[in-house]
Amino acid sequence: MTSSESVVEASERSDFIRNIIREDLAAGRTQGLVTRFPPEPNGYLHIGHAKSICLNFGVAQEFGGRCHLRFDDTNPVKEELEYIEAIKADVAWLGFDWGAHLYFASDYFEQLYDWAEHLIRAGKAYVDDLSPEDIREYRGTLTEPGRNSPFRDRGVEESLDLFRRMRAGEFPDGSRVLRAKIDMASGNMNLRDPVLYRILHAQHPRTGDAWCIYPTYDFAHGESDAIEGVTHSICTLEFEDHRPLYDWLIENLPVPARPRQYEFARLNLSHTVLSKRRLIQLVAERYVRGWDDPRMPTLAGLRRRGVPPAAIRDFIGRVGVSKAANLVELAMLEYCVRELLNKTAARRMAVLRPLKVVIENYPEGQVEELDAVNNPEDPAAGSRKVPFARVLYIERDDFMEDPPKKFFRLAPGREVRLRYAYFVTCREVVKDAAGEVVELRCTYDPATRGGDAPDGRKVKGTLHWVAAETAPEAEVRLYNRLFNEELPGAKGDVLDDLNPDSLEVLERCYLEPALASAAVGEAVQFERLGYFCADPDGAAGKPVFNRTVALRDTWGKIQAKGR
Ligand code: ATP
Ligand code: MG
Repeated sequence: MTSSESVVEASERSDFIRNIIREDLAAGRTQGLVTRFPPEPNGYLHIGHAKSICLNFGVAQEFGGRCHLRFDDTNPVKEELEYIEAIKADVAWLGFDWGAHLYFASDYFEQLYDWAEHLIRAGKAYVDDLSPEDIREYRGTLTEPGRNSPFRDRGVEESLDLFRRMRAGEFPDGSRVLRAKIDMASGNMNLRDPVLYRILHAQHPRTGDAWCIYPTYDFAHGESDAIEGVTHSICTLEFEDHRPLYDWLIENLPVPARPRQYEFARLNLSHTVLSKRRLIQLVAERYVRGWDDPRMPTLAGLRRRGVPPAAIRDFIGRVGVSKAANLVELAMLEYCVRELLNKTAARRMAVLRPLKVVIENYPEGQVEELDAVNNPEDPAAGSRKVPFARVLYIERDDFMEDPPKKFFRLAPGREVRLRYAYFVTCREVVKDAAGEVVELRCTYDPATRGGDAPDGRKVKGTLHWVAAETAPEAEVRLYNRLFNEELPGAKGDVLDDLNPDSLEVLERCYLEPALASAAVGEAVQFERLGYFCADPDGAAGKPVFNRTVALRDTWGKIQAKGR
């Protein structure tokens, strides 16, 4: 992102979070803005996280503040170093920079422990010996108040001693917890003596076996914010009910700063699952080829598919920030991808389902280099040479032996334009023993070189093509939505809603030569087909291309219908 672009964005953007920040800064309630993006390293980031990243890093950029990348690594059981590295790569790829501000909640374990003792000494926390089942039972329900644990009023010294022995590893998992002493009758369940520490004899990816007690999210999160001097702790709406606890802890601890929490609605995308549990399942049970499978809504998957980070930022900007829960059409993301790639992607020709064409009156062995425009939307992109020869491939779909009225492409006796080349006329159809069309015999008109007839005659169809001899062979992977249902799982098992046709592999496609050297991830438009990019699976002799999006603009159509 250029700096001028971000200045324009800052002046234009307005939403309730930005308004709060603007007012806080104007009223001097905060000296500077500090935000954070706090992923738990228990999976890969997805397009929903992009909303939080763009918001937290975005406001920091716009208001001259800073945004921390903080790993909320308080649950050793599900967390892995692989995820930490992947998350860092994804945030950077999305275009954001945490600078020197990379943090881990696990770096604060000692401080958090001290603050837990502080609460015990103040009579505001106690060690509870109830079993997890009893704790749940005593907690009450939304309509009934909870009951005090029989251990709630044990002495400060006893709790301190037990808490230290919890840390020392004297007790098994689940045998005791540390709880805040707030109010078992509170209408807010989060205030019914929430658990602050639990015993977990587990290897932590960063602290190893240094600890066998771990702080809960509620305890670690706000206090980590305070340690880092976060001013605006922006999170999703499911934490709204946790805010009173967030504030209670900040008020009752000698923390160096008083961050405030604000909640916004998470991104929900149609035909997509964004629950990490579900995404992990798709990978582990091999419904997809990995976290970066181009059908996955992960940032790694979108990157591999060829979605540019700027298109994701644009999409998130259009979605906006509010407190109203909403479901965004997957087609809108595709629209943003198309909008951007239309301006930036080089045009190339590739034939996905080849049909051989022999130009009978074209000299054997002759190859001509014809000029082809790289991007009609961008004159600066210039042009390239495309070889033309006697034997070509066209798209199987572009020929019909017995065409209906509105079919304007190739048919027996009909003349069409081969893009950037010549007019050709189909003279004969060659079939195999099974009656399938295997070859077309055509003639060309040498006077139409470049694609226009000097006598002014018109043709209705323009086809893309490649010269057979010089065409690299490629595998092309076409992706369709991973789920058929708008809300996967809404009617039953989410796995039943998987689209069995989400991946179609075309093994024998032909490319124009310029595509043989396409860089992995670089977007190109295959004329008339869509946007594609080279996949890392491709080897030198056999490139592999992913379809990023088709050309058809379903979102535009939906908008036009006024939906
Ligand atoms: P879980 O807690 O179930 O593992 P999570 O999606 O909440 O999953 P976190 O790593 O805790 O994952 O999320 C990091 C940040 O990203 C949080 O602040 C969270 O609110 C935000 N976030 C997660 N999913 C979305 C979403 N769909 N839309 C917007 N923000 C999201
Ligand atoms: Mg979470």
